[in-house]
Amino acid sequence: MGQKNIIKKLLEGNQRYITGGALHPNQSFEHRLELANGQKPIAAILTCADSRVSPEIIFDQGLGDLFVLRVAGNAVNEMFVGSLEYAVEHLNVRLLMILGHSQCGAVDATIKGGQPPGKIGSLVQAIKPALDRLKKQSPDWVNVVAKENVKIGVERLRTEDPILTARYEEGDIDIIGAFYDLKSGKVSLII
Ligand SMILES: [Zn+2]
Repeated sequence: MGQKNIIKKLLEGNQRYITGGALHPNQSFEHRLELANGQKPIAAILTCADSRVSPEIIFDQGLGDLFVLRVAGNAVNEMFVGSLEYAVEHLNVRLLMILGHSQCGAVDATIKGGQPPGKIGSLVQAIKPALDRLKKQSPDWVNVVAKENVKIGVERLRTEDPILTARYEEGDIDIIGAFYDLKSGKVSLII
């Protein structure tokens, strides 16, 4: 399936989810047995650990459909990049998506600043470049910063990774950024 058709398939699934017409595909007993022979996910999605942003549910997909990476604030780190490279090189995944969302707690903590306890500081440090890159505060600030954070991640994958950047430039894979609205359930493409 071409990258454009994969995006279309995901957005169609999101539309079913929004309108209450979710099909919950690929979740049967038979499908599980079939998948034991190998996986062939259609997309890799890096998103927030937030319990309200489950990719299989919001895109109305099933088992084996999505290669999912999650961490609070969905910032890109080395292990994520390695996992995405694996998905592209070994699982033949052709679409990589970074998915941010509205009212993200990790983004909010980054905006509030200060010294968060324990390892929470590492999440904040990872999101901070988004805050630093925006010149001045604007309405809907948490969501503006969250979207910037997605864009930075996508730009990094498109331009700084030897494997992914080369595949992207060849047009072999697509790398996109999207944003999920908690209230409407809608996913919008932002980069
Ligand atoms: Zn979040």
